[in-house]
Amino acid sequence: MTSSFTLAGVAVSVGVAIGPAWVIDARGAPVGQRRVTREQVPHELARLRAAADRAHAELVEALAMASDLPNGPLRDILEAHRQLTCDTTVRAHIEQLIEEELASAESAVVRVMQGFARSLEGNGGPHLRELAHDVEQVAGHLLDALAGHGPATEPPAGVVLVVRDLPPRDAVRLRERGVVGLVATHGSATSHTALLARALGIPAVVGVRDALTTIESGALVEVDGFAGACHVRPSAEEQSRARARANRFETFVRGLVERAREPLRTADQVSIELRANIELPSEGRGLLARGAQGVGLFRTEYLFLSSPGSLTEDSQARTYAQLLRDVAPHAVTFRTFDLGVEELARALPSGPSAPAALRSAPRAANPALAPRGLRLALQSGGLLERQLRAVLRASADVPDVPVELLFPMVTSRSELLRALALLSDERAGLRAAGVTLPALRVGAMIEVPAAVVMVDALLPHVDFVAIGTNDLLQYSLAVDRADPLSSRWARPFEPVLLRAVHHVVQQARAADKDVRVCGDAAADPIALPLLLGLGVRHLSMPPPALPVAAAIVRRLAHSSVQQVARAALALADADEIEKLVVSELRASLGDLWAEQGYAPTLG
Ligand code: PEP
Ligand code: MG
Repeated sequence: MTSSFTLAGVAVSVGVAIGPAWVIDARGAPVGQRRVTREQVPHELARLRAAADRAHAELVEALAMASDLPNGPLRDILEAHRQLTCDTTVRAHIEQLIEEELASAESAVVRVMQGFARSLEGNGGPHLRELAHDVEQVAGHLLDALAGHGPATEPPAGVVLVVRDLPPRDAVRLRERGVVGLVATHGSATSHTALLARALGIPAVVGVRDALTTIESGALVEVDGFAGACHVRPSAEEQSRARARANRFETFVRGLVERAREPLRTADQVSIELRANIELPSEGRGLLARGAQGVGLFRTEYLFLSSPGSLTEDSQARTYAQLLRDVAPHAVTFRTFDLGVEELARALPSGPSAPAALRSAPRAANPALAPRGLRLALQSGGLLERQLRAVLRASADVPDVPVELLFPMVTSRSELLRALALLSDERAGLRAAGVTLPALRVGAMIEVPAAVVMVDALLPHVDFVAIGTNDLLQYSLAVDRADPLSSRWARPFEPVLLRAVHHVVQQARAADKDVRVCGDAAADPIALPLLLGLGVRHLSMPPPALPVAAAIVRRLAHSSVQQVARAALALADADEIEKLVVSELRASLGDLWAEQGYAPTLG
C-alpha cells in the first residue's frame, strides 16, 4: 500500500516530528505451558535466577544512563521496575510454580506476572492499570533474558518509533539514539508511556490502536503531538509543511522558555499565576525554567502506588521536603492521595503486596462510582493521618517555602470537616512534640457536581478551592474521561463547565477565598481564555503546556476576555461557544493556536 492515511490517537507530548517509522512489533509469540521433568527443576531455577539477575542488571545500567537527565519520572519508573525484578514475593511465586507444578521458567513467569497484571487491571482505575502495564513490561524483560535477548534492536537516529508501549528501559536508549517521535498503540494521557515521552521531550501520540498493523517499517510518518494524529506517507507538500511546522515550533518554544522567568501578566497588566501539575516528586526539578510559579497539583497517589506497602511517614516527609527545596521559593500544593479501593489495598503499609492477596482485594460492583478520594482516605487505617504528618513535617523542615494541602473529590461538608479535624489533631500532636510548624493553606477540590452545588458550605472552612475540570466534566456529563473516543462529548468548554466555574468563582469571591483551576481545561486553547475571563487568576497544568499558556496570557487583555466569557455564559452549546471564542480571539491568538495544532475551521 502506498497511499497516505491518517490514524487518530491521544496527543500526549506536544510538537511535530517527521521521520521513517521504526516498528517494534508486539512482544513475540505467546509462551506455551511447557513443563519440565523433576530432574530439570534445579536447572530451571538456575535459569530463572540468571534471567532475573540479567534483567536487574539491564535496569541498573539504564538507571545509570538516565543519571544525567533533568527529568525525574523516567528514573522513578525505572527504579520501580528494578525493584520488581528482585521482588521476593513475586520470585517466590514463580519458583513455587516451577518446583510444585514443574512449569518451565518462561511459563511460570508468564502465569505469575500475567495473573498479577490482570488482578491489577481488573477494575482498579487508571493508576492500577498503569501498574499492570509495568508488571507486563518487567515480565517482558524477564522473558527476553530467558531467551537470551537484550533490549530491543536499537533504532537509527531520526526515526519515529511505532510500538505497543514504551518500557522505560528502552526509553533511555532511545534518547541516546535520537528518536524523533513516538506512536504507541496503548496508553492514555496519564500513562507511563506518555510520561516518558514528555520526559524525553519527543512529540508523541498514544492509543493509536491500529498503528502496528497498518504502519510498515520505513514508511514516512508525521507525528502531530498537538492534534493527536499520525499521518502516514504524507505527500511532498504535507512533508514540507510538517518540517516547517516542526522547525517553527522549536524556535517558538525556545523563545517562550527564554521568557519563562519574567513576571506573567495579561496585556492589560493583570497578574496571572501558572503552576504545574506533577505526578512524581522528581518532576519538581526543572519546572521553574519552564515558567511554572510552583506546583499547583502534586498528585501524591502515584507515590503510594510506586512504593506499594513500603511508603513510610519518614520516607514521605523526606520526599516532600526535597520537592519543596526543588521548587523553592515557590509554593507546592500537595493533594492527599486520590486512590480507589483496590489501589488503597495495595498502598496500605501493613497490607499485601503479593499477587495472591491482591487477587482477593475487594471488587467494586460499579467501578466508575466505587469509593475513591477523600471519602475513602478517611477510612484508610491511618494512611491519611501519616500523609498529613509527613506534609506537616516537610513544611517544618523547609519553612521558607509555602505549603498547601488539597483534599480530592470532596463531596460534602461533613467529609471535609472530618479531614480538617484529622489535620488539626496531627498539627497539635507535632506541636506538642516540639515541632515548629509554619502556616499552611488548605483547599478542597471542586470536581464533582455535589461540590459545585455545595461550594458555599465548603468555602468557610478552607483557604482556597481548586476546580478539577477532568472529573467535573466526567461526572457532570457521564462521560468516561479515560476513553479517548468518548472525550468528544466532554470538551473543556462545555457550557456546563463554564457555568460551574462561574458559580464557584462568584461564591469564592463572596467568601473572599482563592479559586483555581487545575484540570486539563486550564491548558486548552479555547477554554483557557474563557477561564481567565470568568475570573480565574491561578491555573495549574501539565508542565509541557506552560510556555504556550503563558504566551496566550500575555497576548490577551483581561477586559476583553471578560466580555467573551460573559457572552459565552449565555450560550447553551459547546459548538456555539467554540465559534464565539474563535471569532472574537482569532486575531490575537490565531498564530498561537496554529502552533498548538488547533486549526479552527469555523466562521
Ligand atoms: C481533575 O479531576 O481535574 C484533577 C485535576 O484531578 P485528576 O486529574 O488527578 O483526577
Ligand atoms: Mg480529579
